[in-house]
Amino acid sequence: MRILVVEDDPDLNRQLVGALSDAGYVVDSARDGEEGHFLGDTEPYDAVVLDLGLPIMDGVSVLEKWRRAGRKMPVLILTARDRWSDKVQGFDAGADDYVAKPFHMEEVLARIRALLRRAGGHATSELSCGPLMLDPKAARVTVNGQAVKLTSLEFRLLSYLLHHKGRVVSRAELVDHLYDQDFDRDSNTIEVFVGRLRKKLGVEVLRTIRGLGYCVTEPDNAA
Ligand code: CA
Repeated sequence: MRILVVEDDPDLNRQLVGALSDAGYVVDSARDGEEGHFLGDTEPYDAVVLDLGLPIMDGVSVLEKWRRAGRKMPVLILTARDRWSDKVQGFDAGADDYVAKPFHMEEVLARIRALLRRAGGHATSELSCGPLMLDPKAARVTVNGQAVKLTSLEFRLLSYLLHHKGRVVSRAELVDHLYDQDFDRDSNTIEVFVGRLRKKLGVEVLRTIRGLGYCVTEPDNAA
């Protein structure tokens, strides 16, 4: 298992690298956001420990760039104590877990173990598209591992489009598959639901094909 540590504080960086190496991981480290981003973008890590306050490029930007480029490795962010907004920003950017500073090294190790365990989970019947996953059995939607709360209609809409990933689905077809017969079938409302869904998902997977309908496709891999 190979782990990347991105932390600018030299002592903390050394301690993290030391503890993770002692725990049996292969560890690379970077001291600024630019170098960290480059490594995470080009090397296959199983997990990353990412500080948010970094020189040159901050941790949230690093994480956002990785996720936009389709890098899916689990990321544990290090946040300043009592900065709840750091955590929110970090999770929104695609973090999988966090540890607030100052922390006990044992907690970082335990969280890394948990992240690796989850990442190694076997394939399921989940429907996915880029960072977006829909688990039909649990009726659960996640983006980069973070749960997204959807109304039942939004869930059905997304589920239908994911089942037909890569194909353009017309509004009329959606109306046919989303509503029961007694529903007032106004296809204009679909546009409103798609807009809301797109906003909630926050990832570029749900495209509008002008005059034809909607299509779920993998996000662009541009960094
Ligand atoms: Ca820092």
